Parts: sequence; C-alpha cells; structure tokens
Amino acid sequence: MSFIDKLKSGMTEAGNKAKILVEQNKLKLANVSKQTQIEKLYKEIGAKVTKRHLAGEQFSTDDCKQELEAISILLLEIEQNEIEIAQLSDEKVCKQCGKDNTIVAKVCIHCNAPFDIIDANAPPHTPVYLEENTKEEK
Ligand SMILES: [Zn+2]
Repeated sequence: MSFIDKLKSGMTEAGNKAKILVEQNKLKLANVSKQTQIEKLYKEIGAKVTKRHLAGEQFSTDDCKQELEAISILLLEIEQNEIEIAQLSDEKVCKQCGKDNTIVAKVCIHCNAPFDIIDANAPPHTPVYLEENTKEEK
C-alpha cells in the first residue's frame, strides 16, 4: 500500500468514526428531547390528578390514557435509540467504572461488572409507571 493509499484509508476510517459520532449524537439529542416530552407529560398528569383531587372527584388512569400511551411510546423510542447507539459503536462504556469495553463483552474487563444484555428481539420493558402500579396492587 502506498503512502497516499495509507493516508486515504486512514482518513476514511477517521471519517467513518466521525460519522458514527455524529449519528450517535443525533440519537442522543433525540432522546434528550423525548425525555423532555416525557417530563412534560408527567407534569400534565400531575396537574390533572391534582385538579381532580381538589374538586373532590375520583381519579382513574383512564383520564390520562392519552398521556400514558404517549409516555409508553416515548420510552420505547428511547430504548430503540439506545440500542441503535450501541449498535453503531463497536465499544460500550461500563456503567460501573466508565471504561470502554468491546460491544460483545458480557462483563467489564476492567471491574468485572456485568453488562445488561441488549437484545433487539426481546419484548419491550414494562414502562416504569406500570411496574409501580402492579406493585401497589399487591
Ligand atoms: Zn467496569
């Protein structure tokens, strides 16, 4: 391989890495805005619950069906984006020690902390609010 070819291939690799970073940042930004939308919906639900309570009325989750459904969709989309972010990179960061590992690592090579297995075919997680509801009923 000539010097120029080496230089070119090096540049393409750097270019690809930059593209991956841009793509990952796009997804991360999208997730930040989705998280903001979720916070807004939480506030709307809170306001509805409070209004009902102050008016001495019964409150049912059906009254917030639209908001709750929107939140579940947003949570799913965030999860999908996180999977995509992980798939774009051939590295992942350990939550425990913050060091890089290969994408296929099952435990951190630095601190031995287990990685959550991201399985694109796995059924979606139950949204947090649903988990809390089931706990309360027990
Ligand atoms: Zn670690």
